Amino acid sequence: MLATADPLAAPLIDPNFLGDADDLQRLRTGFRHMRRILGQPALQAYGGQESPASARAQTDLELEMFIRDHADTVYHPVGSVRMGPDASDPLDAQMRVKGVGGLRVVDASAMPQIISGNTNAPVIMMAERAAEFIRAAQRQPEVVQVAAPPVAVAAAV
Ligand SMILES: Cc1cc2nc3c(=O)[nH]c(=O)nc-3n(C[C@H](O)[C@H](O)[C@H](O)COP(=O)(O)OP(=O)(O)OC[C@H]3O[C@@H](n4cnc5c(N)ncnc54)[C@H](O)[C@@H]3O)c2cc1C
Repeated sequence: MLATADPLAAPLIDPNFLGDADDLQRLRTGFRHMRRILGQPALQAYGGQESPASARAQTDLELEMFIRDHADTVYHPVGSVRMGPDASDPLDAQMRVKGVGGLRVVDASAMPQIISGNTNAPVIMMAERAAEFIRAAQRQPEVVQVAAPPVAVAAAV
C-alpha cells in the first residue's frame, strides 16, 4: 500500500500476521505439542532446556503474548504485481506494466501465484528471461522492413 503520494517513500507493508484468531490458536497448540515432545524422557539425555523467556509462557494469554513477540514467518511473499492476461493483472507476459511505457517489474512480485517450490531460482530465471525480452525490444527498432524482392522478368531471346 502506498504510504504517501511521494513515489520515493517506503510503502506500507502489513501482512496481517495473526489477524485471524485461528492462526493464533494453531500456533498455541503447536507450541504446546513442541514443548511436550521436547520434554520427553528420551530427549533429556541431550540436556536441552527451554529458554527462560518461553518457559514463563504457560497460560493461553502468556503464550499469545510470547508468540506475538517472537514468532516470525518464513513465507515467501510473491504476486503483489502479478503478470497475467486479465485486465486486473498489472503485468503482461513480458513483465511490462500495462498502460505504462518503458516499465517492467522483474522480481518475485511478478509471479501470478506462489509456486510449489523455493522461489529464489525461479526469480533468477525470470530475470534472465526479462533480460532477453529487454534485449529483443532494443533490437526491434533496428529491424527494417525489407522490400519485396524485385519480380524476375523473363527475357525472350
Ligand atoms: C528468511 C528467508 C529465507 C529464504 N530461503 C530461501 C531458500 O532457501 N531458497 C529459495 O529459493 N528462496 C528462499 N527465500 C526466498 C528468496 O530469497 C526470495 O524469493 C527471492 O530473493 C526474491 O527475490 P526478489 O528479487 O523478488 O527480492 P529480493 O531478493 O528481496 O531483492 C530485492 C532487492 O531490492 C533492493 N531494494 C529494495 N528497495 C530498494 C530501493 N528502493 N532501491 C533500490 N533497491 C532496493 C533490496 O535491497 C534487495 O536487494 C528466502 C527468503 C527469506 C526471507
